[in-house]
Amino acid sequence: MALFDKFTKLAQERAALGQSGLNPFGTRIDEILSPTLGRIGDREVVLAGTNNYLGLTFDPGCIQAGQQALALEGTGTTGSRMANGSYGSHIALEAELAEFMQRQSVIVYSTGYLANLGVIGTLAGPSDIVLLDADCHASIYDACRLGGAQVIRFRHNDAKDLERRMLRLREQARSALIVVEGIYSMLGDRAPLAEIVEVKRRLGGYLLVDEAHSVGVLGPNGRGLAEELGVEGDVDIVLGTFSKSLGAIGGFAASRHADMELLRYASRPYIFTASSSPASIASVRAALRAVQNQPELRDRLWSNARHLYQELNALGYRTGPEPSPVVAVLLGSPHEGMAFWQRLIELGVYVNLVLPPATPGGQALVRCSVSAAHSSEQIDRIIQAFAHLRDCLPRTAAAGDDLVRTGGLA
Ligand code: PMP
Repeated sequence: MALFDKFTKLAQERAALGQSGLNPFGTRIDEILSPTLGRIGDREVVLAGTNNYLGLTFDPGCIQAGQQALALEGTGTTGSRMANGSYGSHIALEAELAEFMQRQSVIVYSTGYLANLGVIGTLAGPSDIVLLDADCHASIYDACRLGGAQVIRFRHNDAKDLERRMLRLREQARSALIVVEGIYSMLGDRAPLAEIVEVKRRLGGYLLVDEAHSVGVLGPNGRGLAEELGVEGDVDIVLGTFSKSLGAIGGFAASRHADMELLRYASRPYIFTASSSPASIASVRAALRAVQNQPELRDRLWSNARHLYQELNALGYRTGPEPSPVVAVLLGSPHEGMAFWQRLIELGVYVNLVLPPATPGGQALVRCSVSAAHSSEQIDRIIQAFAHLRDCLPRTAAAGDDLVRTGGLA
């Protein structure tokens, strides 16, 4: 069997879906006009398929900081921090993040994906157990593979199931690593962190929360779900990314365990890849200041998110279980999902299409992401497009009968 033959089935499936012209897994956005507006072909679209929660990608302060770093420090670091040295700005960002997150140690990685690989994949080796929520992000699964950890999945957002599995582990539970996310990227639901913390308090273990979608989004100061629920003291490690609310690229791990610093000498995804470009680091530092100085961005994000969630529910769509900047709309088969996604683009709205097996529950879904930078007119445009499809697409509407809301996800 030739090396590429194993992909034939995948290629056929993708080709069948892509016959209509637009490719949902390789969409070309020809022009980025603002954080919330783009052009696909000759059509202007509202961008609602990003993770640009605070809309900071076009923030003048972030752009200026990035441009200045580009001019002063060049286009790239051209090497890893271990081998080639750290730029002062990388170290300054780590100190600023440590202060913001109120944690002693912060390590910046080149992406959030690498932060998960670097932390989980290094801490949890073959003799360690990782208990992870079944809906955790691929980077968390990959991290477990990298380290060779023993993986035990518990049912999504089910603290009782976590407890049952920990009880079976007896003494071993005390050193196991529990991994959950602040906001889950597909349905926009939050971890039941208070319940999970309660299990951890009784049975032991270490708790890592991936707050990729919740830093800058949740908590009075934007530190994430743990802050929102007042349980930061029980979270051993927080993972974050710069690619969402902070509008750039990179990731970080933050902890109160001083020993976290040792990961710099053992974490392959830290050691064997180049560090982030100076422009990215500088724009993240400016974005972090915006998160702290402009709480109104979070207010606007939530007001937009609640409005979109309520209106799509009122239209009869089946959405994720709670209001969130990620508003998932569950559809039927992959073909129905594809047709729906395409019609949305024709109506000037760009969202993400997600197909099984990447979707919880095995249904196609479209994922709308809301931004503080969406104007109320833009949110209305999104709602109108969904309303139009509800009324005008008999095929999708018929499929919609089994997607009409039944009170959230089972
Ligand atoms: N963790 C979660 C929960 C994510 O959703 C993502 C990205 N979608 C990542 C980690 C990876 O982040 P990055 O894009 O910075 O690699």
